[in-house]
Amino acid sequence: MRILVISDIHSNLAALDAVIKDAGAFEQIWCLGDVVGYGPEPNECISRLREYNLICLAGNHDLAVAGKTALWDFTPDAQEAIFWTRHRLASFNHDWLKSLPDTPLVAAGITLVHGSLRDPIWEYITEKSVARNNLELITTPVCLNGHTHSPAIFRKPWDGMYVLEESLPVNSPIRLIPHDLTFINPGSVGQPRDEDPRAAYAVIDLDAMTLTHHRILYDVSATQKLMKQAKLPNRLIRRLRFGQ
Ligand code: ZN
Repeated sequence: MRILVISDIHSNLAALDAVIKDAGAFEQIWCLGDVVGYGPEPNECISRLREYNLICLAGNHDLAVAGKTALWDFTPDAQEAIFWTRHRLASFNHDWLKSLPDTPLVAAGITLVHGSLRDPIWEYITEKSVARNNLELITTPVCLNGHTHSPAIFRKPWDGMYVLEESLPVNSPIRLIPHDLTFINPGSVGQPRDEDPRAAYAVIDLDAMTLTHHRILYDVSATQKLMKQAKLPNRLIRRLRFGQ
């Protein structure tokens, strides 16, 4: 069974469609949250996801648009995009966002979370000390997380004392080792921040127990054009070009 693993789409339909096309056949999508926010096509992204067999978590932007979290932790640009999204969102999509789970889920023996296990919505797993504290809470060998918009692996080998930070190879399957404890972040579909503007995603093969990370070019200028038309903040438009 092949699973498409995505996170942080942020209303970028051009990026989402490029990922779905590039991934080939899959049986299910696991989306780690932040379907909306920042980008120009929130309704279209939600509709696209719902065409598939889908497990989807809430991210901080989804909760903000749905009115389930306060806005003061967001940057002014992010807040502006949240207000714009609220205004634009169809009521049934608002209801759908509101219904998304905001706590970790386990699917096929793998934990899914937006931020971290300590703080499923807000904490960023960006360094080994944070990963180490969260690995103490893990109940499955592998946890997939999003939120940082940067692909990453933090692994505690079964016979080791220390947490290792490894880079996620592109187009090269890694084995999901059942005795190690591992956080894997597939990166962001719609707003990468690792200085690579290409959309990021992963495919898990549950039979082979492998995960393969991919980067794919998409039409950045098409998304930027829609953002300009929508009068979304310039900084949000520019950053897509640089992956920042
Ligand atoms: Zn995000």
